[in-house]
This record gives sequence, structure tokens and C-alpha cells, in this order.
Amino acid sequence: MSKLVVANWKLNGGLKQNKARFEAMVKSLNDLHHIDIAVCVPYPYLFQAQQCLSTSNIHWGSQNVSQFEQGAYTSCVSAEMVAEFGSHFAILGHSERRFYNDEGSHKAVLRIQRAAEEGITPIYCIGETLEEHQAGQAKAVIDRQMQPLFEMGADAFNAVKKVNMVIAYEPVWAIGSDQAATPEQVQTMHAYIREHMKKLDAKFAKKLRIIYGGSLNPQNAKGIFDMPDIDGGLVGRASLDIASFKQICEAA
Ligand code: PEP
Repeated sequence: MSKLVVANWKLNGGLKQNKARFEAMVKSLNDLHHIDIAVCVPYPYLFQAQQCLSTSNIHWGSQNVSQFEQGAYTSCVSAEMVAEFGSHFAILGHSERRFYNDEGSHKAVLRIQRAAEEGITPIYCIGETLEEHQAGQAKAVIDRQMQPLFEMGADAFNAVKKVNMVIAYEPVWAIGSDQAATPEQVQTMHAYIREHMKKLDAKFAKKLRIIYGGSLNPQNAKGIFDMPDIDGGLVGRASLDIASFKQICEAA
């Protein structure tokens, strides 16, 4: 399976800066055909991403979608709306959404369902906090965060499989820090996630892309990507510097 590298621009950028970054991405990443590359931008820039990237090999997407379809839900943006701008991916359940906006796994999984129904590939982020890590609870946290997937029902799960849902293992203690998890730590957790997914659907678990996020950079990417159960990366800070992002893509 080819690797997937996704830039998460978070709350960064503006029209002028994005244009320069999109142009640099198209110029420097267009020859990397052996991997899948995407950038997830703030909602207002989806149109710009579509304009700048539609003739390239780079996909784009959003950093969330609402669980609602339409109606009186002030400030929400639906999966159907982001799909209108050609979004291929949606990051869901990111730890920053969990922490700052109190969005737990049940809500994230409702959103995964909505994204899948609109043909968008959800990137479901899971991972333990430092406290949980130190208490030896990492695997229990993964079980808990994956549980709503087990409860979603066959029709919904079939839709999720159809769009090849991705899981991003992002230990919260490694995000935005200078301390990425080691390749061995990541491999252990990815193998665990795949085993756990097997209980739900063995065939899907085999081809499930499990990508890693948490302080990936040009120095540590190769060691992490070389591990057997690591199918790519979700890249925050380092994706804002296109030269660094390119190196990470090359490592994949
Ligand atoms: C992220 O928040 O998804 C992420 C991977 O961030 P960073 O690369 O900055 O740790």
C-alpha cells in the first residue's frame, strides 16, 4: 500500500501565504508519484486549495466537518459543503478539537459517518495524553477512542470502508513538542490498532492506513516510516515549511 502524507495547516495562513505555499508544493512535490499527498486547510481556504491544486497530484481537505447536515447550527460547516470544494479528506477527532472544543470520540465518529456519506475520506485521530502514557494506559485509551466505530452499525461502517477511512495515531504528548515518539513506540501502537480493528473487520484492518502524527520532521521521518505498520504521516508544524514537508514526503 502506498504511503499517505498529510499536511495539517491548523490555524495558519492567509491568501497570500497560502498561494506561495501551494505553488511551492506543486513545484516540488509533483514528481512524487509513489505516495499520496494531501493538505488540510482552514475552511475559508478550501476554494483556494481547489483553484491551486486541482491540476496537481496533491489532494486537499478540511480539518473538521459537522455531524449535522443542515439547519440551525450556527458556525457549523457540513460535509456536503466541504465536498463541494473537492475535499478529499477531513481530519476528525484531532486532539486539539478534543481539548479546546470538548469534541469526544462519539461526536468524532458521527462526523466520520457524515464525511463518508459525502465521499470524503475521514482521518480519525486517536492517541493518549502524557498522563495516560505515563500511567501505562495508552492501549486502553485507543480501545476507548475506537469503541464508537464498533458501535456505528453495518451500513455506516460500510460507507466508512468504501472511502478507505484512515486512522492517525497521534500521541498528544508528541504533538507540537520536540519529542516525537520513537519508531518502536509508534510501531507497537500501530500494530495494536491494526489488531484491534481486526476484531471489527479483519479484511479492512489489513488494508487500513494507519499514519503517525506528532513532531514529524525531516530528521525523524524515515526511521518512523520504515516500520511495517506505519503507512504515512500527519504533519503539523513542519508542513508549513514546504522544503521540510518535501523532505518528509521523500522519506515516505
Ligand atoms: C498534529 O497536530 O496533527 C501534528 C502532527 O502536529 P505537529 O507535527 O506540529 O506535532
